[in-house]
Amino acid sequence: MKVSPEIESLVPYVAGKPIAETQKQYGLTEVVKLASNENPMGVSPKVRAALQTALLEIHRYPDASCTELLAVIEKTWKIPAKNLTIGNGSNELIDLLIRIYCEPGDAILSFQYSFVAYGICAQAARVKNLTVPVEKNFGMDLEKMAQVLRTGRARDKIKLVFLANPNNPTGVYIPWSEVKKFLNEFGNDPDLMIIFDEAYAEFVRAKDSAPVLNHFREWKNVSVVRTLSKSYGLAGLRVGVLAAQEKVIDFVNRVRNPFNVNSLAQAGAIAALQDQEYVENVVSQTWLGMDYLAKELEQMGLPVITSNANFILFDSGRDVKKLNEQLLSKGIILRPVLNYGLPGYLRISCGLMEENQRAIKVLKDILSHGSN
Ligand SMILES: *Cc1c(COP(=O)(O)O)cnc(C)c1O
Repeated sequence: MKVSPEIESLVPYVAGKPIAETQKQYGLTEVVKLASNENPMGVSPKVRAALQTALLEIHRYPDASCTELLAVIEKTWKIPAKNLTIGNGSNELIDLLIRIYCEPGDAILSFQYSFVAYGICAQAARVKNLTVPVEKNFGMDLEKMAQVLRTGRARDKIKLVFLANPNNPTGVYIPWSEVKKFLNEFGNDPDLMIIFDEAYAEFVRAKDSAPVLNHFREWKNVSVVRTLSKSYGLAGLRVGVLAAQEKVIDFVNRVRNPFNVNSLAQAGAIAALQDQEYVENVVSQTWLGMDYLAKELEQMGLPVITSNANFILFDSGRDVKKLNEQLLSKGIILRPVLNYGLPGYLRISCGLMEENQRAIKVLKDILSHGSN
């Protein structure tokens, strides 16, 4: 059977190489994975306890409307539950928003080098992913995006704008003053929705940044997606949160699968959200690790993109395929970003301090041998 050209040419999401696969392939026992921006400290002990209890009930269907989880988010994040819904990871929410608001032939708008999931989900829905070029150092200029929305030929086709703030894989953020100006111009446009993907919001240190999660209700058509995959450490359980106007939440709840968030995910998410102290500790440990990684990479003469997330993108200045192969053979999994159109660059997630030190040591050894 034939499929559409969009499906035929779809390139699947490239995930970080799994630890077990690397161990097997290279005959290694010790492998450090710094490839998927995961929380290296694991989950809070309270989450583990909640999962043990939830195991006793896995023969039952989960709560289809995540009532308790929504109540906990309302309390913790101060967002009314009626403005929230949960996804099987934020990836599902991105996919649902595109399916709900775009017809085949429509377009979404994002910045060049922003999170690949937007483009993949769009293409799967036969929707175009239009991109605005970034500035030097990967800066995202919202004024440039505004020009596309004011005068661009595709203006009528663009239904959704995706802004990852901070962005993956660059770690670059957009200052609040620029976000606000942009939203004052487009946030009430009845034919457009502006979606902020704040997967890394907890890690932001820049003083001129603010989470849109705390402000989205000031405009009519602004939504926010959050994830529990990063600072909260629940990547394997798949929990994403959408904060949006009630009518958007209503549509997502109609289109999503009834049991999209399984019972372990719900129980784990509730416990994780109730242990904010743990998350604060994760964030402060991450900042120490980020400072270490940035300093070491710079000292090696590798250009580093200033990051406000839990990973760093750097220019290796050489054939990244070969370098990556050498790193893997020594048990270090980083993330090449060839799929983003950035040959030569690698992204390193912040791990435990000893993992960071190990990765830097191996990288130094490889680069100093000049075999590249
Ligand atoms: C990691 C990441 C997500 C999280 O995806 P989940 O499906 O929630 O695990 C979302 N957006 C960006 C930009 C990310 O880097």
